Amino acid sequence: MELFELREFDAHELVVFGHDDATGLRAVIAVHSTALGPAAGGCRMWPYPGTAEAVADVLRLSRGMSYKNAMAGLAFGGGKAVIIGDSSRAKTPQLFEAFGRFVDSLGGRYITAEDVGTTVADMASVARTTRYVSGLGAAPGEAGGDPGPKTALGVHLGIKAAVRFGLGRSDLSGVSVAVQGAGGVGYRLCAMLAREGARLTVADVRPAAVERVCDEFGARAVSPEEVLAQPVDVLSPCALGAVLNPTSIPGLRARIIAGAANNQLAQGQDGSVLKAAGILYAPDYVINAGGIISVAHEYRGGGSEAAVIADIQGIPARLTEIFERARSENRTTNAVADQMARERLGRHSPPQAA
Ligand code: NAD
Repeated sequence: MELFELREFDAHELVVFGHDDATGLRAVIAVHSTALGPAAGGCRMWPYPGTAEAVADVLRLSRGMSYKNAMAGLAFGGGKAVIIGDSSRAKTPQLFEAFGRFVDSLGGRYITAEDVGTTVADMASVARTTRYVSGLGAAPGEAGGDPGPKTALGVHLGIKAAVRFGLGRSDLSGVSVAVQGAGGVGYRLCAMLAREGARLTVADVRPAAVERVCDEFGARAVSPEEVLAQPVDVLSPCALGAVLNPTSIPGLRARIIAGAANNQLAQGQDGSVLKAAGILYAPDYVINAGGIISVAHEYRGGGSEAAVIADIQGIPARLTEIFERARSENRTTNAVADQMARERLGRHSPPQAA
């Protein structure tokens, strides 16, 4: 594998491979940038078909964390870890303790937390072998714990900002929203949207997750194959990345895309196709920063949940600034956000500005 030649490689500071024979741990940590502070980003556990796919993912995700942390105004750089394995079968406390030792070996240059496939309980195992971990349990009223609910809050506020900008509506009553993925974030997002009168459509590959949202919030169920093409005001991708690509974009019928998933655009230029189609795209790493804001407060210690929520309330204003700049400069929202993030990182030449 020609690491430095990969499309996903973006002058990353460090990429390290970790292996532990006893537990079978196979992990990769990528530190994209420590310009603004130690690199913070979650640990994803996923059954990648091979090392190349895991490396491509960790490179892309860690760069996204640099952008996300920079745009959220956090004194953290960007990093990410991936563990190659099936989280439904291959998890043991010992595996995460071994992962913790791997994180610890970087001496604080990378701080981990949960992500897709890992949980608060897994991070508790990690915390037995390193202090460079966040997203642990939090007492009521304290900052921290599972970042999912805080991510959902930021996405909810971000959707409202996009609806205000794109549809000229000041509330969500009667606004139709299709949510792809009713997991930790998607379920809570549906709860918040339903409370404000949004009309929900939902899809998940887990039928029980769909049933729950339909029962509790009166959502309409559609199949995972159909959800992206729903004729709705807002499409909210809350499952996995790269859902906005040359195959899916021609079929989109939403006016706004605003969701939690990381790396929603398969490539930067897909943002131009969305713009040409008149679809307002809320850059993923701006709208989904609620979780990392919570993780950052927890890691610094002593913070309150109220302070976390106050910071998350900054997300809609940042999005509106991006929407306005994109409109006045006739650029895509993702290019504007990338440029703003790279300026904050001291990297002045966006590779995919459009
Ligand atoms: P999760 O694993 O709890 O939920 C994901 C859901 O998507 C699951 O219910 C899964 O069954 C479903 N899904 C998978 N493939 C699907 C498909 N093809 N169609 C429909 N549904 C599908 O994860 P989460 O914590 O809710 O995170 C959701 C997304 O948001 C992920 O992309 C994650 O990286 C991103 N994100 C999460 C956080 C956080 O704090 N949890 C923060 C930032 C970004």
